[in-house]
Amino acid sequence: MITYARSRNEIISAVKSCLPSQEKSIGLHEPCFAGKEWEYIKDCLDTGWVSSVGKYVDTFEEKLAEYTGVRRAIAVVNGTAALHIALKLVGVEQGDEVLAPAMTFIATTNAITYCGAIPHFVDSEKRTMGIDPYKLADYLSEIAEIRDSCCFNSHTGRRLKAVLPMHTFGHPVDLDPLVDICNRWRLELVEDAAESLGSYYKGRHTGNLGKVAALSFNGNKIVTTGGGGAILTNDEELGRIAKHITTTAKLPHKWAFNHDKVGYNYRLPNINAALGCAQMEQLPAFLANKRALAARYEQAFASVDGIEFFKETEFATSNYWLNAILLNDGFAAERDTILEMLHQNGLLARPAWTLMHKLPMYANNPRADLSTVENLEQRIINLPSSVFL
Ligand SMILES: *Cc1c(COP(=O)(O)O)cnc(C)c1O
Repeated sequence: MITYARSRNEIISAVKSCLPSQEKSIGLHEPCFAGKEWEYIKDCLDTGWVSSVGKYVDTFEEKLAEYTGVRRAIAVVNGTAALHIALKLVGVEQGDEVLAPAMTFIATTNAITYCGAIPHFVDSEKRTMGIDPYKLADYLSEIAEIRDSCCFNSHTGRRLKAVLPMHTFGHPVDLDPLVDICNRWRLELVEDAAESLGSYYKGRHTGNLGKVAALSFNGNKIVTTGGGGAILTNDEELGRIAKHITTTAKLPHKWAFNHDKVGYNYRLPNINAALGCAQMEQLPAFLANKRALAARYEQAFASVDGIEFFKETEFATSNYWLNAILLNDGFAAERDTILEMLHQNGLLARPAWTLMHKLPMYANNPRADLSTVENLEQRIINLPSSVFL
């Protein structure tokens, strides 16, 4: 019987050895405003351009497209709204099923529900903590069938419309096999890239392989606009539609207010976009800091028994948005004790999100075998990861 009594204290010292010493607690992920934030926001206030249009919105969209390498980036009010519209753009409709990870932030799952569609949970793989494409392929050969050029779930009779992988803690999922699965089964691929700005899959920025992808600029993300998000796509026409329906579907005119469909007021205010422009200028420095912190954590945990520091796979360059350690199976029962100790030491670590199928509103949703992710959930601890640490 191995005991990890010593490891508990070693975890605390390992984390502390990687972080600056300070009096107050160290948050999980705090924003960093070290650039031109004040200047750009003052400009918004001085000129009166604080609301739903303005030059910072345009510039922010251009910067995002340029940085990620996609054709079009459309700034919106938050990442959840970006996901909602991304799913609508690929044709997710009332009564469809969308395959999605059980381990994710609630936004991924809720966005599917907002379309009137049904989240169908699938398992993750340990090396990426995201959707396991090989397990998904096997599962689809069991449950899916093609009729009239569409994919159906033969158990529920509902159309399977899309796969919505999420790049967990910034680590890209294995996208190539997911693209193959989508082609084979006529499913649309939408990437929840909310956590993965600055992360690359085989040299391409995340968000490029899905037909549409979503980013988030919430206060805890690598780049923040206070609240905000963006829709990414390489399809010009979808990009045009995305801009149109997120800006109330208004037809351009000097004074007339005509709208050609039910659109959404999902516009990102100029004042938030100004923050985003200043933040994007610092992204390369943020990434360098985050990779340096990850390297320190990796080294510090190398000699702690019962712990594995979670590293990027060979096909990925991760932004290490949230650093994670995994407790060995025999150690997992002590997760909450360790979290308690970390908090007592002012280190605001946290576990993974409660799995989606364990939440009351999604408890009866269709799901595949989720044994890997159920095991992972019990073993994950996210460590303080702010860019300035
Ligand atoms: C942050 C996040 C989102 C979007 O969240 P918003 O707060 O709406 O911007 C979506 N999915 C995941 C996985 C996230 O972490």
